[in-house]
Amino acid sequence: MKPAAFDYVVPRTVREAVDALGAGRDARILAGGQSLVLEMRLQRVRPELVVDINRVPELDHMSVDDGTLRVGALIRHASFERERAVPGPLGTLFSRAVVNVAHPPIRSRGTLVGSLAWAHPAAEWCALAIALDAGIEVHGAGGPREIAARDYFLGPFLTSRTPDELITAVRFPLLADDTGVGFVEHRRTHFCFAQVAVAATLTAPDGVITEARIGLVNCADRPVRARAAEQALIGAEITPPAGRRVPGDHPFARAGRVAAEQDAAPLPEPYADVEYRRQAVAVLVGRTLCEAARDRLSRTGTSQGGHR
Ligand SMILES: Cc1cc2nc3c(=O)[nH]c(=O)nc-3n(C[C@H](O)[C@H](O)[C@H](O)COP(=O)(O)OP(=O)(O)OC[C@H]3O[C@@H](n4cnc5c(N)ncnc54)[C@H](O)[C@@H]3O)c2cc1C
Repeated sequence: MKPAAFDYVVPRTVREAVDALGAGRDARILAGGQSLVLEMRLQRVRPELVVDINRVPELDHMSVDDGTLRVGALIRHASFERERAVPGPLGTLFSRAVVNVAHPPIRSRGTLVGSLAWAHPAAEWCALAIALDAGIEVHGAGGPREIAARDYFLGPFLTSRTPDELITAVRFPLLADDTGVGFVEHRRTHFCFAQVAVAATLTAPDGVITEARIGLVNCADRPVRARAAEQALIGAEITPPAGRRVPGDHPFARAGRVAAEQDAAPLPEPYADVEYRRQAVAVLVGRTLCEAARDRLSRTGTSQGGHR
């Protein structure tokens, strides 16, 4: 199918882009186009006006300042494939997560911010934003404001951003050097979105977990922060199990069961019913926590660890 007819503008500044969005027409931003163009071709989205932000230089910027990574709206997924593109454990976590986003041609055009704007429940970046307490910077007719990720995702493809607001950037707090990180994804085929994926960070200054962050991908109608599972880990030793299997009585396996029973609210999918998906959450949370614990061990060289 071909898209319905639309007008097309190419602003050169954020102001021009915001003015175009606020002109009272059904307008859509074009960033990487990897979701929008497909939806337009299928005529599931029929904007009157497409606002192409690819010529706005101030959006093509990534910076680290005062312990925060700021990612502009034109930074492509592929920018995060190199672990050192972002300092510290956050760079490791991003590089492990991003290779699960679609495949290389899509990653070379699609943007992290576009993914947050689209708000697909199975999008890896959305779960990372929730788990890491990201802040989403938007700019509309009323000026700029920041929306906390926890207040941003309202449902599938539904956010608290208003249609006249452009997302200019997203801000992630950097992670302390002794934080362990993990990302594990299960998908049916290489080309599918995640059936379930989990992002986790563990902080354990003296070998005992003081903070855990767990983000669940495609485990509800929106990205989920697994707060009950995080709470269940506080005070547990960070020592990972010796083998690949996580014994049922290990704190990571227990946290997995808590996540599956209390945090996740999976919906049935054609290839996976709710029971299967809950089981996948339990297993993947356990595995991701193991990966995070081993990652921390590799950073600190000891399960007791050190501070930043
Ligand atoms: C075959 C295929 C497989 C894929 N697999 C995955 C996957 O496994 N995981 C995953 O996360 N994604 C996947 N995607 C989606 C891909 O990651 C997209 O790149 C991403 O969802 C959107 O980014 P974009 O920059 O291409 O946005 P666009 O397609 O340009 O825009 C998407 C939507 O967001 C809006 N938008 C974009 N930028 C802004 C902004 N700055 N402010 C306000 N609104 C904005 C647009 O108006 C549009 O409604 C897949 C896509 C395809 C085609």
